Amino acid sequence: MDRKMQEIGDKVQQNIRLSKEDGIYLYQSNDLLAIGEMARTRKLEKTGRYVYFNVNRHINLTNICVSRCKFCAFGVDEDGTGGPYVMSPDEAFEFGAEAVDYGITEFHVVSALHPTKPFDYYIEVIRRLHDTYPHIHIQAFTAVEIFYFAQISGLSVREVLTILKEVGLGSMPGGGAEVFNDDIRRELCPRKAMSEDWLEVHRSAHELGIKTNCTMLYGHVESIEDRINHFIRLRELEDQAPGFQSFIPLPFLPENTKLSHVRRTSAIDDLKTMAIARLMLDNIDHIKAFWIMLGIPLAQIALEFGADDLDGTIVEERIMHSAGAQTEKGIDKTSIIELIRESGYTPVERDTLYNIIEIF
Ligand code: SF4
Repeated sequence: MDRKMQEIGDKVQQNIRLSKEDGIYLYQSNDLLAIGEMARTRKLEKTGRYVYFNVNRHINLTNICVSRCKFCAFGVDEDGTGGPYVMSPDEAFEFGAEAVDYGITEFHVVSALHPTKPFDYYIEVIRRLHDTYPHIHIQAFTAVEIFYFAQISGLSVREVLTILKEVGLGSMPGGGAEVFNDDIRRELCPRKAMSEDWLEVHRSAHELGIKTNCTMLYGHVESIEDRINHFIRLRELEDQAPGFQSFIPLPFLPENTKLSHVRRTSAIDDLKTMAIARLMLDNIDHIKAFWIMLGIPLAQIALEFGADDLDGTIVEERIMHSAGAQTEKGIDKTSIIELIRESGYTPVERDTLYNIIEIF
């Protein structure tokens, strides 16, 4: 181990915050196992041998999108190819309801930016689910969607969040953060919320008592410096307005996107990113290895690189699979428990807010 790596290791031991230079150094290093070991130490300090999962139902209301981001394989035009669909509130309700018998504790509602559906449509979906199943937590709408609802309704972000909270929204997912570099956003997704907009939606949510998650989409056109800046901006927001529960690194899946020429991230990059996220984001409790995107084998290994959560046993998921995710669309609870046990950790079923439901 070289001197700089030793220095970073000492900082980790003493719980001293890593700097931007430290983060960049870690990315440039080939000592994957040393980085992993440091991240594992941090993980063990934060959550011990627990590895969390939850049982949820993803509901993707529509894939028709005004934004058509270059890295997205899910959004389509209304009249275009790619099987445009939009669920009515009844259909969304039925789709959610049919998963209730699986013992789900969360409805996870994330969609595209539909050109004509009014804000009332989204309110109705949440209200119906919540009124019928008040015991099931609703995690819904990325900051990009919330920002869009504000635009189409003429309300402020804070008003949109307040109304959604009143009808049953419990927390927000972390999607749409992509990477906080507005030159890249203008190039890849010019029609949706910019970096500061995304961060401000999460700030407002946290101030209103709505917990959220955060993500980073990596492995497209961004630089290592962009990634580290991204971590630092998340970390700063968490310092100022706490409310992030977990961070989820999302490797870019190029298949079926306008960036299909870009090479899929390597396992080394995925593991390094997981570990560096754990090390840089010292004020966020949980790091998720989202098995749908990483694949189950790599998600399992990621548990040795700082991850402490495998996310949900998802009954059906469409967004990542449009982009060529090769994983199953859902796995059952027994399988996810087995995966965690096999890695030597203790499987813990949690609810959306990380309350423990059962330790296996
Ligand atoms: S990433 Fe979201 S906003 Fe962009 S095209 Fe896909 S669904 Fe639409």
